[in-house]
Amino acid sequence: MGIKVAKFGGSSVADAIQIGKTKNIIEADPQRRYIVVSAPGKRFDGDTKVTDLLYLCKTHIEHHLPYEQLFQVVCDRYRVTEVNLDVKVDIQKHLDEIRANLEKGTTADYVASRGEYLNAILIAAYLGYDFVDAAGLIQFNAKGKLLAEETDRALKEELAKHERAVLPGFYGSGPDGSVKTFSRGGSDITGALVARAVGAEVYENWTDVSGLLMADPRIVENAKPISTISYKELRELSYMGATVLHEDAIYPARIADIPINIRNTNRPEDEGTLITAEAGPLADGQIITGIAGSKDFTVIAIYKNMLSDERGFVRRMTGILEDYDIPLEHLPSGIDTVCVVVSNKKLDGRLDEILEEFKQQLKPDTMDVSEDVALIATVGYGMSARPGTSAKLFTALADAGVNIRMIDQGSSEMNIIVGVENDDLEKSIQAIYDAFVK
Ligand code: ASP
Repeated sequence: MGIKVAKFGGSSVADAIQIGKTKNIIEADPQRRYIVVSAPGKRFDGDTKVTDLLYLCKTHIEHHLPYEQLFQVVCDRYRVTEVNLDVKVDIQKHLDEIRANLEKGTTADYVASRGEYLNAILIAAYLGYDFVDAAGLIQFNAKGKLLAEETDRALKEELAKHERAVLPGFYGSGPDGSVKTFSRGGSDITGALVARAVGAEVYENWTDVSGLLMADPRIVENAKPISTISYKELRELSYMGATVLHEDAIYPARIADIPINIRNTNRPEDEGTLITAEAGPLADGQIITGIAGSKDFTVIAIYKNMLSDERGFVRRMTGILEDYDIPLEHLPSGIDTVCVVVSNKKLDGRLDEILEEFKQQLKPDTMDVSEDVALIATVGYGMSARPGTSAKLFTALADAGVNIRMIDQGSSEMNIIVGVENDDLEKSIQAIYDAFVK
């Protein structure tokens, strides 16, 4: 019988009621043997995540402000859950230890990690599973970079000793044994690492939505769910802001060829979205997998006569961006033009300086700058096999009265990116959705 690794996000383990739902899900399938949990998340709109409270405690201490009340809120949440789950793990003893470490000036990583640590202890007891700490198994180097292979070996060795276990997400430890966390949302990565180590047949990521939708529901009303999507398509969509999973969670699953299933703890009957290596079959007549967009980019179009004959032009241009530590988002080009697309956030008010450098070093004939451009990615393997896809997309935008500022289509034909004015983003996504989604 294959193994399933199930990771439950913050809202799925926010209190005893939610934890009760996760228990039903876990017990409904004996293959769900390894469970990874986040810290308690929001229970209602306006609530605060335990991780945020813990970080706040640490900042208060750093600024010599009283932190006790904040820490008390954390303590109360765990104590109430302990009582409501009716488990006896002496959570108070753990809380006292954390408080003592806070007083001693422990690190922010340690403090933040305790959200997952305490939740995993409670949930393991409630399920009757072993608690396996992630410190010592998930390993980082001194610079905080994950040591993927060492981690894989350590997890394999340890988990072989446990038939069923709950692990805290989000953290591991450095060479000196001190706790190190991933970036925010990092429990997804822990889940993927555990899935890889135990050779899971699927990595289930349980959250509060039934998977990805074909477009942002704030823009497209009743956007359809995506039932299957490839890792590559997901990457294209999440790059444009469609987030459902920590980006670094994809790699461990991908190299081990483990599909990731995004599921909804509050609607376990929904199948959610399956993320796989190969593009899955699209629903009847569907050409695209999804649409995502993001605002605030700048497009610099550089024109120079006989540019196509010049050597090293793009290298010098990217060198300038590198000197300013500005990543290049896209680079659509023509015979005598190169368009540079960069994010306004990364540009950070340095546009004039960059343009001056371009002028000095590249000696262009002219440069055209469009600030406040939104990029929209229309993604799907289904597009490559269909002649007329781009025509349909551009017609939809023209009919909606949208002026296209830039077009970039990867040679894989999996993604067509258009640049439009920021104000046209919503209208464009709706128009593309209406044209393609049946
Ligand atoms: N609790 C951590 C956070 O809020 C990690 C996670 O939930 O994935 O970022």
